[in-house]
Amino acid sequence: MHIGYEWLGSSPKLLIWQQLCQILYDKLKDAHEIDSFYFLALEKAAKKWSLMNPKRMAIELLISMLDHEGRLDKSNRCFYCQQNLLENVALAKGYAKVHENCIGASGFRHEHIAHLYENKSTIFLNDNEVDRIWALSLQGFAN
Ligand SMILES: [Zn+2]
Repeated sequence: MHIGYEWLGSSPKLLIWQQLCQILYDKLKDAHEIDSFYFLALEKAAKKWSLMNPKRMAIELLISMLDHEGRLDKSNRCFYCQQNLLENVALAKGYAKVHENCIGASGFRHEHIAHLYENKSTIFLNDNEVDRIWALSLQGFAN
């Protein structure tokens, strides 16, 4: 990875970068070979890290990776109870979509999460929602 990005001097941006690297390390540490997709995605993110909200970029990158791995939950069913999802969805570990009642947490507009999953864009999520998804991301992803 390159060193010398100007955002290395910004501690909030650097902290989120380090957290993202930790998530990826935990996710990939047992892989025998690492697909170039991951390096290219990280390099692309590093170049834009100073321009955008880094939590948004990190979430979009993780969503892209899960999609690349075929593990992004694009179903319309709750991961826990398998019933159809409603207008709001909550997210569980690994960005699995669940009913708010099934996880006991408030969720997000389903259409906004669907847009995130389809377009790898957090544009319809407000900063508070991005903070909540980032906090969930820090719980890591199953391998
Ligand atoms: Zn459910």
